[in-house]
Amino acid sequence: MSRILLKDGCVLSLDRKIGNFHRADVLIDGSTISEIGPDLRAGNAEVIDVSDSIVMPGFVDTHRHVWEGLFRNLGDRAPARGGDPGALSRQIGPAYRPEDVHAGNLVGLLGAVDAGITTVLDWSHIQATPEHTEAAIAAHHEAGLRAVFAYGAPWWRESDPTQADTLRRLASAHFAGADQLLTLALAPPGPEFASLESARADWELARELGIRISVHVGVGDYGRGGKLAEMARAGLLGADTTYVSCATLSDEEIGMIADSGGSFSLAAAAGMMMGYGMPPIQQLLDRQISPSLSVDAESNVPTDMFTQMRAVISIQHASLFDLKLAGKGGVPNLLTTRRILEFATIEGARANGLGDVTGSLTPGKQADLVVLRSDTPNIYPINDPIGAVVWGMDTSNVDSVFVAGKALKRDGELVGVDVARVSALAYSARDHVARTAGLELLTMEAVG
Ligand SMILES: [Zn+2]
Repeated sequence: MSRILLKDGCVLSLDRKIGNFHRADVLIDGSTISEIGPDLRAGNAEVIDVSDSIVMPGFVDTHRHVWEGLFRNLGDRAPARGGDPGALSRQIGPAYRPEDVHAGNLVGLLGAVDAGITTVLDWSHIQATPEHTEAAIAAHHEAGLRAVFAYGAPWWRESDPTQADTLRRLASAHFAGADQLLTLALAPPGPEFASLESARADWELARELGIRISVHVGVGDYGRGGKLAEMARAGLLGADTTYVSCATLSDEEIGMIADSGGSFSLAAAAGMMMGYGMPPIQQLLDRQISPSLSVDAESNVPTDMFTQMRAVISIQHASLFDLKLAGKGGVPNLLTTRRILEFATIEGARANGLGDVTGSLTPGKQADLVVLRSDTPNIYPINDPIGAVVWGMDTSNVDSVFVAGKALKRDGELVGVDVARVSALAYSARDHVARTAGLELLTMEAVG
């Protein structure tokens, strides 16, 4: 089994028992972290000098519609603007062939790895046929990061009566191994976009299979109808569910989720861009809840978690300063950089049901970690390592990325990825879908 020693890095374990080190080594043994501390004995391990770097757990994204990765950065033409969360997916989704799902997932997942994300929840509501599902999963195997594959029926069709059988088959065909990178979850439309009865059937199915659930709630006007409260009264809320957005839920409804032990995923940047409402950051902090963070869709949001951290901490700070400027007393404390970094790592792992597996540098956990360069012109001198990661770093600082001890990125380059091939796949699939769906793009050829 291969052993790797990351030597002399500034180590942010994000495990409060392990702590942080201004200089320490991280020993990777096979797929797991075996030891953290100064001057570890390397033995026969491959030694990597990380003395110019910060070593920390990989970022965890708890909700992303990865297949939509073909339609990044649509600018002013993004159809999802204006509070209708399904507008883009309803327009492009029906045009996706299995190979387009593969290309969208591949480019989205590789972008995530490149940005230092080691676990993503793929909110994959593109399951038009079993071939679409196979194509999505194949891209996960190819990209190699840890993922929760959250199976979702297409939003542009009536509910699929075969979904239960499909999921049961999938669970045994692709997700039965205990030691694997992919886990299965359910991504149902939820009570705001389907009936309470269909939500009940979805929740019962997920619980029969023992898989987690990720659901959008509190989305713009859809979130104001008290649907979450109806679900709570029907006894459906539970600790196995992650609630995405939550922007327009009532305070009582947020309390219902908290009481059930459910997790929160703030897609702050996407939610603001798409008109879902202000992310309920302070409402969660007031209840001592630590949410996870998510990219949601790349249609006008970059792939990285640096952006997510800065969006959330900036909104929280701005809101508090507004209160102070308005002369209000009893203003809450500013969110700290330490906590926002936890939201982007260990809290994400917990929300993905993987809190014992990843999300912190802890001996015995999987070796999912990033090496962030601290000697690049955008970041030195480092005056506070956590402050530097949260406020100053970006994807250009992501030097190396390991998932289960395997290097997916080294020396700033993705490992074993034929970039020309992936790019050709992405452009070809993008062209097919855009043309078929009648989505007008301002392509590079059209600029001018
Ligand atoms: Zn979403």
